[in-house]
Amino acid sequence: MINLENKYIPKDVNYWIKEGQKMVAEHQKRIDRTKNWKFDTIATHGVYDLSEALNKNNGSIMEPIYMSPAQAYHDSGEMEAGLSYQMPNWCYTRIANPSNFYLEATTALLESYGTGLEASSLATASGMSAIRTATDPFLVKDDSLPAPNFVASAKVYGGAFQQFWVRRWLEQGVEVRWVKNPTNLSEWKEKVDAGTRFLYGEFPSNPSVDIFDIQTVADLAHENNIPLIVDATCASPALTRPLEFGADIVVQSASKVLASSGMTILGLLTSKKNIISKVGSDEMKADFATWAKLWPYRDNGPAINPMACILTLNDMRSLRMKIAQMSRSTQIIAEYLENHPLIDRVHYPGLQSYASHDLAKKYMKLVDSNENLYGYMLSVEIKENSEGTTENTRKFYDGLEMIWRATDLGRVKTVATLNAISTHQQQGEEGRALASIKPNAVRISAGIEDPDDIISDIEKGFANIK
Ligand SMILES: *Cc1c(COP(=O)(O)O)cnc(C)c1O
Repeated sequence: MINLENKYIPKDVNYWIKEGQKMVAEHQKRIDRTKNWKFDTIATHGVYDLSEALNKNNGSIMEPIYMSPAQAYHDSGEMEAGLSYQMPNWCYTRIANPSNFYLEATTALLESYGTGLEASSLATASGMSAIRTATDPFLVKDDSLPAPNFVASAKVYGGAFQQFWVRRWLEQGVEVRWVKNPTNLSEWKEKVDAGTRFLYGEFPSNPSVDIFDIQTVADLAHENNIPLIVDATCASPALTRPLEFGADIVVQSASKVLASSGMTILGLLTSKKNIISKVGSDEMKADFATWAKLWPYRDNGPAINPMACILTLNDMRSLRMKIAQMSRSTQIIAEYLENHPLIDRVHYPGLQSYASHDLAKKYMKLVDSNENLYGYMLSVEIKENSEGTTENTRKFYDGLEMIWRATDLGRVKTVATLNAISTHQQQGEEGRALASIKPNAVRISAGIEDPDDIISDIEKGFANIK
């Protein structure tokens, strides 16, 4: 111990490597203990316990927010062991941070909950940077293989569409092959070839609320020696854990329901151990998220502020109960809308009229229950007087009073979005058609208000049409 009275005798690098092994063993014990708990208990406590609090953090019952950019070392031996990654250390907040670690450890346990799999997670500055960090390493140069391409569902978030189409394909020449109907396995199949590096899908998609059969697409990926990457933002691990169905990597825009109080944006990437890939080192395949953190994330710099991590962790403690309330409300709202004379269609996986309702039943269930719930987001097409106009849609939208007009979702407050003129404006008409974004579609993300009040506000929107 370093203190004011005694002269500290420096230790050598081998001493610190041994200390590091003890830290790793203690961490594993904590993970093993936590793994035996139910989802809500893991979400509430994660790996932060009495011994962490008393030994490291002045007894604080809440995880501390380490705003410091860098870690101090006892001596040169510890610095050497740490910086050569021979002992756990956090070093510099662009690489790691103790507060971020508490969020990452909890996320890994929640995404792998009930699967028997081991997983690890990485927190990033945004959902977009999580997608970039998850996909980049598979698109590396490899002279033994044809030029890289990847196959992705066209029904993806507007930002992902732009990242793949504009940044990857048009600017950097890495081909994205869009799957127009992601429930059609043969469409995925016919696009995969020797150059394909990964498959990518959104479950459910934002904003068209489409899904795909994770298990069969994962099988297809593995038959081709490539991973499946799934963005499960609009389900969250309280409803769907893609790792359970064979996905290799899951990304979350944690800005949404994981940080549902709306205090920050951030992303989370989670991988299971020993993923399948035809490119990359053995170290990368063994533990993708940890490898990404130590190498490309460090070098590319999409680091996340520790404050954002603890705010999100705080929100995630009550994830399951919020998802339950939001999903039950969304079901009520969807059924109300479906019977309304001023609408054309409602897209919601919980409705019988939803084309993939049986598939949704398989994949969407409130964790630790037998209750099928279908998430917090629906899309409704408002009836127009003629094809392609948006007059009624805008009147409906502008008539909302309590519900926020914003490009946001997963919030504790209900939010409505006109996607064709906002989130999916930049991708143009052709891109919107690919992703099934209609000009008269309004996305509604239900919050935790009483559903009666949400419906009363929606009625104000309809009243504004007449
Ligand atoms: C919002 C969103 C993203 C992007 O996340 P940011 O945190 O805004 O960068 C990615 N995927 C989906 C499904 C989203 O809804």
